[in-house]
Amino acid sequence: MTKKHGKHQRGQVHAKVDTKSAATASQAAHEPPSAARWARAAAEIADGVPHDVTAPPARRAAEGIVTIRPGQVCDLSAIDPNADGGLDKEASKQALAAERARIQTLQERLYAEHRRSLLVVFQAIDTGGKDGTIRAVLEGVNPQGCRVWSFKVPSAEEADHDFLWRYHARTPSRGMIGVFNRSHYEDVLVVRVKGLVPEKTWRERYGLINGFERMLTLSGTTVLKFFLHISKDEQKERLEARIADPEKHWKFDPADLVERKAWNAYQAAFTDALTHCSSPHAPWHVVPANRKWFRNLVIARTIADTLEAMDPQFPEAAEGISGMTVPD
Ligand code: ADP
Repeated sequence: MTKKHGKHQRGQVHAKVDTKSAATASQAAHEPPSAARWARAAAEIADGVPHDVTAPPARRAAEGIVTIRPGQVCDLSAIDPNADGGLDKEASKQALAAERARIQTLQERLYAEHRRSLLVVFQAIDTGGKDGTIRAVLEGVNPQGCRVWSFKVPSAEEADHDFLWRYHARTPSRGMIGVFNRSHYEDVLVVRVKGLVPEKTWRERYGLINGFERMLTLSGTTVLKFFLHISKDEQKERLEARIADPEKHWKFDPADLVERKAWNAYQAAFTDALTHCSSPHAPWHVVPANRKWFRNLVIARTIADTLEAMDPQFPEAAEGISGMTVPD
C-alpha cells in the first residue's frame, strides 16, 4: 500500500466516525455485539491511535487445507490426517522451495513498507510438527523481519497477569512476521484438559480471544492460524522414533505419554476452539499433517498467498535519488 492509499483510508475512517458516533453513542452501551458495532469500534480504534490500517480479510488457504467457516462446527474426525492432495512427494519438495522464495520476497516488502504485520499461529497436539513446520517454511527469511515465540507453562510473572498479556506483548510490530509456536489457545486447550481454571472461565475465553484477534486485525495485523492435524497412530510412531534414536532423546518428554492418555480430551478441546474461534477475519485452517512434505508445502503456499494478498509496497522514495552521484 502506498502512502497515498494510506491517507485515503484514514480519510474514510474519519468520515465514518463523524457521521455515526454522535447518533449512536447512547445506544452502544445496550446493544449486543453486531457487525455494525464492530465497524464502529473499528472506526474508533482507528481514529484514536496511529495503528490506522485494517488488515485485509483472511484469504482462502491452499488446496488440501480445510478452513473452518464462521458458524461451522469443526469435525476433526471427518478430516483425513493422511491426505496429501494426490501430490507427488519429490515435486512437492521443489514446489516448497518456490513458495519459500515468494515468502522471502514479500517479507522484504512488508518490512520496507512498515505499515502492516502478519501473525502466524501454530497449534497441534504433542509431536504434531510445529517446530519442523516453522523450520521448513521460514528457512531463508531475513531473521530481522521475523520473530518466533514458543509459549511454555506461564512464568510466575505471566501467571500474575490476565491470560492474554504475555501473547499481546509478543504480537508482531509493523513490518514484522510473528510466529506463535503454541499461543493464546493454550488457555482453552491444556488449561481446559488439565482443569487449571473453572469451565466458566475457559468458556468465556473464546469470546475474549475473538475480540483480541479482531483488535489485532483492526490494527493492521493479519492473523493466520494453522492447526496441524495428525492421527493417534502417527503420534505413536513419532514418539517411538524419539525413544529409538539417542539423538532425538532431547525431544522426548515422558510427560508426553501421560498427555497421550488424554488424546480424546485434547481432540474435544481443539474441536471447540476451532469451532468457536473461526471468525471471518481469522478462521482456523486445519492442515492434514501426517505427511510432513505435504504439510510444509500447503502452509508455505498459504503464507505466501496471504502476504501477496496484503500486497505490501516499498515506500515512496525521496525525490531525485535516481540522479544522485556518490562523491569519491
Ligand atoms: P513444545 O511441546 O511446544 O515443544 P514443551 O515440551 O516445553 O514445548 O511444552 C510446553 C508445555 O507448556 C506444554 O505442555 C504446554 O501444554 C504447556 N503450556 C503452554 N501454554 C500453557 C498455558 N497457558 N498454561 C499451562 N501450560 C501451558
